[in-house]
Amino acid sequence: MNKAELKAAILQAKEETGTLVLAHTYQDPDIIDIADITGDSFALSKAAAGIPDKKRVLLCGVRFMADTVKILSPEKKVVLSHRSATCPMAEQIAPERVRAFREANPDVCVCAYINTSTELKAECDVCVTSSTAVKIVKALPSDRILFIPDQNLGGYVSQFVPEKEIILWDGCCPTHHSVSVKDIQDAKAVHPGAKIAVHPECRKEVVALCDFIGSTSEIINYCLSVDDDVIIATERGVCDKLRRDYPERGFYQLAQNKLTCPNMKMTTLQNVYDALLGNFGDVIEIEEELRLKAKRSIDNMLKYGG
Ligand code: SF4
Repeated sequence: MNKAELKAAILQAKEETGTLVLAHTYQDPDIIDIADITGDSFALSKAAAGIPDKKRVLLCGVRFMADTVKILSPEKKVVLSHRSATCPMAEQIAPERVRAFREANPDVCVCAYINTSTELKAECDVCVTSSTAVKIVKALPSDRILFIPDQNLGGYVSQFVPEKEIILWDGCCPTHHSVSVKDIQDAKAVHPGAKIAVHPECRKEVVALCDFIGSTSEIINYCLSVDDDVIIATERGVCDKLRRDYPERGFYQLAQNKLTCPNMKMTTLQNVYDALLGNFGDVIEIEEELRLKAKRSIDNMLKYGG
C-alpha cells in the first residue's frame, strides 16, 4: 500500500475495531494525521479517561505514556504502538535507589516528572508535568523536595521556589540535554530577528539564552501568539507540525539532528495499522497494587496542581 492507501486503511481499521488512537506531539506528522487526539503525555491520558465508550486505545508514543493511560483507565485495553519505544529518562533510576534515599531522608517529599516508569511513580509522593511543576512544588507541604529524574527541569523549578530545598537527581532527557549554547548562537546567527522558544528539559545555560520557556503545548501556543519568527528548541515534532500547518510563518527547528528523539520516531504508519489489527505493539498490563500506588502520585498531582 502507498501512504495514502495505508492512511485510509488505518482510518477504516480504527472504525471497525472501535479504537481511540492517541499520538504524542513528538510523533511524525503522518501519525498525527491519523490520530484522534494529539497532545502532551498527561493530556492524552486525561482525554482517554474522559471517553468511557472507547474501550480500546492505541498510544503512539513511548511506554510511560501508554502506562499512564492504563493507570487512569484500567478498564481499557491499552496498546503501545511499538514495543521498543521507551523513554530513556523514564527508566534512569532504579526504584530501590529512591526507596533507599527516602529511608535515609524521611522528611523528604519525592516529586517525579510524569516522564517516569510506573514503578518509579509508585515510589513517589507526587508527579508533575513540565507545565505544572513550579505550581505543584510551591504547593507541597514539605520544604525538602527530591526531584526526579530530570536535573534540568528540577533546576528550572528551583529558581522559582527559593524558599525550599530542591535536591536534584542526575537524570536528563538525552535529546534535550544534548542542545548546546553554540547551537543557540548558530541559530541566532542564521535567523537574527527570531525569538527562541525552549523546553525546560534543556540545560540551564541554554534556557538562559531563550525568549520563552515552556512545555510542548505552551511552546505551540507561544508560537501562535507572536508575530515574530520563532526558533524552536524542543523535539522536532513540534516544529514539523507547525511548519506544515502554517507554511507562511517563519518557524525554524533548532539543531534538528540532536532534537530528534529516536524513540518517539520509532512508530510508523505500518506499525499503527498492524497494531490496530492486533499483529503489532504491546498490550499494557499493570498489576493492580502497583497501579494504585502509581495512581496516588497522579492524584496528588491533580490535588496540588489543579
Ligand atoms: S524526547 Fe526525551 S523525554 Fe521525550 S521520550 Fe524522548 S528521551 Fe524521553
